[in-house]
Order: sequence, then structure tokens, then C-alpha cells
Amino acid sequence: MPVYYVRYKQKKHRRRKRVFFLLFALACVGLSFALAFGFGKGPAAKLLSRPATAGHALPLLTIDRQEQLLININIPVDENDSWRVKDNKLELTLVHKDAIAAFPAEEQYLDQQICFRREQNKVVLIIELDNLPPIFRLSTTAFGYAIQWSEAGLAGKRIAIDPGHGGHDPGAEGHYLRLYEKNVTLAIALELQAMLEKAGVEVFMTRSTDTLVDTTLKPGRHIRPDLWKRHDLVNDYSPDLFLSIHNNSWSDKYARGIETYHNPNSLNSFPSKRAAQLIQNELVAELQRYSRGIKPKNDAVLQVKAPAVLAEILFISNKEEEAMLAEPDFAKSAAAALFKGIAAFFQDPRGE
Ligand SMILES: [Zn+2]
Repeated sequence: MPVYYVRYKQKKHRRRKRVFFLLFALACVGLSFALAFGFGKGPAAKLLSRPATAGHALPLLTIDRQEQLLININIPVDENDSWRVKDNKLELTLVHKDAIAAFPAEEQYLDQQICFRREQNKVVLIIELDNLPPIFRLSTTAFGYAIQWSEAGLAGKRIAIDPGHGGHDPGAEGHYLRLYEKNVTLAIALELQAMLEKAGVEVFMTRSTDTLVDTTLKPGRHIRPDLWKRHDLVNDYSPDLFLSIHNNSWSDKYARGIETYHNPNSLNSFPSKRAAQLIQNELVAELQRYSRGIKPKNDAVLQVKAPAVLAEILFISNKEEEAMLAEPDFAKSAAAALFKGIAAFFQDPRGE
């Protein structure tokens, strides 16, 4: 039984999306009126039932929006069926003759987010992915297909987030826009905290404001005690995963890209490495920047007992990347990538 875990990119071009949504909403209203006044072939709800002649009583499509979105498509599976994600839509192409016979000829909406289109010798089910959790599972069942969205792997988890630097330690400073690393890391961390809490995660933040974590540290002193303070707080909290967020910097202004660190000598070295790889993959996919790969590091914060990862998200010392870090939507995009990496880790922490 094939099971596919699919991650798709977060929406971009929000304004254009809004226009599409408006048109889509208008189309829905129009369709509702047409159906209500008898111009259609019958109310949309009728489409959810298989024609009586099909031989069994299972509804063609069931949509459960209670806890999570679950769509059951009770149609014979054909080996030539296919699916793809395009323009933030999942398209499932069904070619079995019973599948084609079960759908009326006209394109119609079955639900606010789901419509189908019958073409020659196939039916294409189109599911809008906007406003759905970023990971879904497409699997075959005894009766057809099931598509399930959930963040079940995340609910109830405890995650510690460490926005690098803070207070009188600005971290690295951009040469062109004078961006401070401490502000970028905090903005990303706060976005990530909100996303994780929405998914039912308990989040511990080493800091939530512009401050050092060791508030007794005098300006001008080495920040090592501050790093150990973060380390101790995280160990006290004992999370399922610890993530420290930084931006890179180098004297070579052409240095660029994304790298993620893990500690091969830590108590949880194996899951740390796996989490680092998954987070690195998502950051590179989302931000479309050069991958420097995952690397071993022995930092104080990476010596915690929990599985731990330190992400260096772009070079603040690189002109092009500093401009990216300064974009108003950057924190959201970076947080979405971290979220996907974390979700992938908890779905399969051992990589089996
Ligand atoms: Zn840093």
C-alpha cells in the first residue's frame, strides 16, 4: 500500500492569491445560486453519493473537517492513476472507468476547496492547499484513496527555541542595511513559536524579547556564560527537540547559503543529525539558497541532552542575503521551513 508524505511550498504572492480567492468565492456564490434556483443538475451534496447503480452503498466522497481534514475517495484504484502538486493545488488523476462514470460531465465544486474536472478518459480531482497544514498523506484504502492532513506528530510535543544573541550582544551585523542578527533570529523564532503552538506544541523560548538570557552579563564581556545559561535552561526544560536560530557571517563577503549544525558527541547525536538534515532540506527548498550542508559542532547550546540543532540561516554579511533577511515576509518563510523540518522529524524521528 503506497503511502506518500508530501510537503508543498507555502503560498507566495499573497496579493495575487487574494484576487484568486475572491474570484473563487464569487464562483462559489454563483454556483450556489444556480443550484438553489434549479439551473444546475441538482444540489452539490448529491455529488457526494455514488449513483445507486454502482452496486454498493459507500459514498463516493466523504469529507471530514472535525479534528483534521480527511477526504475518502471511494473509487477503484488504477495503477495508472497519478497525482502532482502544482500552483498550490493537489491534482489527483483517476483513470478507472468506474471513477469516470461516477462523476458528472461538468466541472463542479464538491466543497469550498475541492473540485473535479472530467476530461477524456479521466477525472481530475483538484484540492486547493491554501490554509491547510503543510504536510499531507495520500494513501490507498480497501475502497479507494484517503488523503489526510494533520500535524498529529506535533501535538503534545515540547520544543525549545533559542533565538541567538540579544540585548547588548547584537550578534553579526550586516554591512549594507546594518541589520542585527539578534533581531532577525528573534523575529523568526516568534513566528515559529506561533506556528508550533497552533499545531498543539508546548514551546519554551530561551528569550522572547531583545535581551540576553544571562541578564547579569555586563556589556563587553564574552557571551560564553550566556550560552551556558541557555544550555542549562533547556536541560531543565528537557524538550523533545531543541532548535537554536542564527544567521551566518564571514569576512569573505561572497560567503553565502544555509548550514545546519548538530553535535555528533551529544547524548542524542543520531536524532540530532537527522533533525539537522530535515531542517536543512526544508530551509534550502523554501528559501532557494545554496546549501552548505549539515556540519558537526560542539557549541555549548548543542551540548544539551535533548536532540539539538543549530540553524545558520543565510549570511548577514552577504549583500544579497542581508536584503533577503530584511524582507518583511522573510521571518514567516524561514519559520515555515523550520516548521516543516520539525514536523518531518516527528513523523519519522529515526528515518525508517
Ligand atoms: Zn549567531
